[in-house]
Amino acid sequence: MTTASRFGTFFVPGPTEVRSEVLAAMSGPMIPHRSAAFETLFADAQVGLKEVFQTKRPVMITASSATGLMESALRCLPQGRVLCLVNGAFSQRFSAISEACGHQTERYEVEWGEVHDPDRVRQLLANGNFAAVTVVHSETSTGARNPVKKISDIAHEAGAKCLIDSVSGAGGIELQFDEWNLDLVLTGSQKAIALPPGLGFAVASESFIEDAKRAPARGVYFDLIELDTFAKQNQTPSTPAVSLFYAMKEQFKAIHAKGMESRWADHTAMANMTDDWADALASETGVTLRNIVAKGSRSQTVSTLRIPDGWNTAAFLGEIAKRGFTVASGYGKLRDTTIRIGHMGDHTVQTLKPCLEACAEVLRETMKSSPK
Ligand SMILES: *Cc1c(COP(=O)(O)O)cnc(C)c1O
Repeated sequence: MTTASRFGTFFVPGPTEVRSEVLAAMSGPMIPHRSAAFETLFADAQVGLKEVFQTKRPVMITASSATGLMESALRCLPQGRVLCLVNGAFSQRFSAISEACGHQTERYEVEWGEVHDPDRVRQLLANGNFAAVTVVHSETSTGARNPVKKISDIAHEAGAKCLIDSVSGAGGIELQFDEWNLDLVLTGSQKAIALPPGLGFAVASESFIEDAKRAPARGVYFDLIELDTFAKQNQTPSTPAVSLFYAMKEQFKAIHAKGMESRWADHTAMANMTDDWADALASETGVTLRNIVAKGSRSQTVSTLRIPDGWNTAAFLGEIAKRGFTVASGYGKLRDTTIRIGHMGDHTVQTLKPCLEACAEVLRETMKSSPK
């Protein structure tokens, strides 16, 4: 499946490894987007995306990265206070966007690596008269997975909407838009869905779209009402990234053939494999690569491991890269103290295993020569 670029096989939590068939599909011809041919492509993409989100609602598609839709979600909210649940860099970004969009924003931050406790969220909402809550499903900077269904239910009890960033979740971790009665979920193409970067995907409930009519300044490009209306007609308001639609067609064929449950199970298996590997390595070498997230709250798509004190992250990753695998450094304030193994997208335990073996080899050799 690998494309064997000079960066080796990607185990970065985005962009993820893209299968060569998907890359090749992008060389399809340009077609006018106001055409039946494009509408067919769009309709095909809808089938795949509805499966990913487990919804019957139209899935809005933007030619943007996921951040565009984070902004969109907040711009389409009516006025009112927003409670932003922060536990890492991306949830922090969500709160910064809320502020930048002019919302009265309340940030509730827990330690990076922790998840949000639904009971605490209930207390916070009880005191607040909030219009919305923002939360990140899989916090890619730390590898923590928030209980989004519970948080969404609690937001609803308090009369608030729940905006969910599932950028490293959707396509890798169970997500049931309709069954869980969610309001808004957004993601991007380049994470767990394993497409090239460049597309944003979002689903909004009917009631979210209805409320959006009261938003004072939705703007134009990211107006969810417009995107939702066009999506229902298998169209985009402005020029779509046609090449990426070809990529979607190829990728969703494979995702459908495998089935979502089986895809979620693959990701759980990879997360478990990474845990077991770290445990085995610790007992063999005495060196602990401690996952910064408590068991039970770990994301299935990314593992953040603390490297021993005094070790140099860049040198460590450089050695892994020499063996043909790209693993990521930590993110934001965890940059120098952790590494992140992204095990998402089309990876499976079979493709992850050699990457973990390479990491172990580097660790053993680092210990032998103790370069620190
Ligand atoms: C990557 C990521 C984003 C930002 O996505 P872009 O596509 O780079 O805009 C936001 N949230 C989470 C959780 C992410 O992992």
